[in-house]
Amino acid sequence: MTAQIITIGDELLIGQTIDTNSAWIGAELTKTGFDVTRRISIHDLRDDIIDTLNEVSGRSDVILITGGLGPTSDDITKQTLCEFFETRFVTDYDVLEMIEGMMKRRGFPMNDNNRRQAEVPESCRVLKNATGTAPGMWFEKQGSIFISMPGVPYEMKYIMQEHVLPELNKRFSSRSIKLKNIMTYGAPEALLAELLTGFEASLPGEIKLAYLPSSGIIKLRLTAKGDKTNLPDEMLQQQVEKLYRTIPELIIAEDEENFETVIGKLLREKGLSVCTSESCTGGRIAHMLTSVPGSSAYYHGSVIAYDNKVKTSLLGVPQNVIDRYGAVSSETVALMAEGARKILQTDFSVATSGIAGPDGGTETKPVGTLWTAVSSASGTITQTYRFGTERSVNILRFSTASLHLLWKQISGL
Ligand code: ATP
Ligand code: MG
Repeated sequence: MTAQIITIGDELLIGQTIDTNSAWIGAELTKTGFDVTRRISIHDLRDDIIDTLNEVSGRSDVILITGGLGPTSDDITKQTLCEFFETRFVTDYDVLEMIEGMMKRRGFPMNDNNRRQAEVPESCRVLKNATGTAPGMWFEKQGSIFISMPGVPYEMKYIMQEHVLPELNKRFSSRSIKLKNIMTYGAPEALLAELLTGFEASLPGEIKLAYLPSSGIIKLRLTAKGDKTNLPDEMLQQQVEKLYRTIPELIIAEDEENFETVIGKLLREKGLSVCTSESCTGGRIAHMLTSVPGSSAYYHGSVIAYDNKVKTSLLGVPQNVIDRYGAVSSETVALMAEGARKILQTDFSVATSGIAGPDGGTETKPVGTLWTAVSSASGTITQTYRFGTERSVNILRFSTASLHLLWKQISGL
């Protein structure tokens, strides 16, 4: 059960548009049990389209195509498909009626370009598009299914969800692929791979392990390919349990992407609240926490104490503490967390102070140094880290490390 994805459009090749369609389609097809073997991006040119269609034809079960279906003269995909499938244009009156209705509602007259959108190759099955004017088209040739959809991402998604995925699920239901994502933190990729050498070696052939790192968090993705006889769900579950036994201290959550969502769920469950006071991260942690829908239920607010005057005047850190230990110190960051927790009246508080770079490092506190603190009714703990030299990377790493410390305190680990 294989699939290939072809995205059409000059803008994809010159870097003006990022090909998010392929990524989305790839993920959805994988969930449906397909092995996506290739993604191809090509110019909106007749010869390129014909060559590519010839190349993929008969070599995959399904070929998904997006882009180039618009009403303008530069969109030549539909015409080329007509030629490739040796058919002719006919007017689809349902589509015509829909376009007329849409133009009327928007207050525009119908023109020839609009009427052309209702013309479809005779041999295709039309996939109605309720979100735009270009319908999707389903062809079959030489044992392959070809599906052409508009390039506009939400129109493509509509057609995929409404027509394509349900139909493919029905036609190719015998095999399935199940995925499980395990979010880890605390060991870089090379170390994690070393810790998991034995685990990987003992994985059954139907299960694959992938490492997906992003700013300190490494997602372990287990993919099980199976059918009705070997139950991929059960196989996966056994391996997940084994992972918990192998690296118990590194696993944060299952099927989660980041700390902000994990923390959000925990705080909601426990009915607890949090606030932030940020120096070197400048509000990044606040932004991450508030990116989660519904975060107002547990997130109170932030003091961005970038200047030491804000640390002293708003958060109540005594000037002599800063003079004696420095702004980037366990003492200062602990008092920042405590001060914010008092004024913002929360159960938890997380604070940061560090040197993001590129300047400001010293011998004892080089660029990349972070002090973070978490304060709660059970006390205040602090921790220091040393990251790299790249400012933007540091700010993200600082934020993630602080959220990890916060997560540990909330979950009582
Ligand atoms: P329309 O009927 O709107 O003209 P179309 O099928 O002609 O649709 P395109 O002209 O190729 O589609 O692209 C329309 C819009 O969708 C453009 O803004 C383009 O940047 C975006 N788009 C096209 N292909 C992709 C893709 N592979 N990933 C993400 N966006 C895309
Ligand atoms: Mg277009």
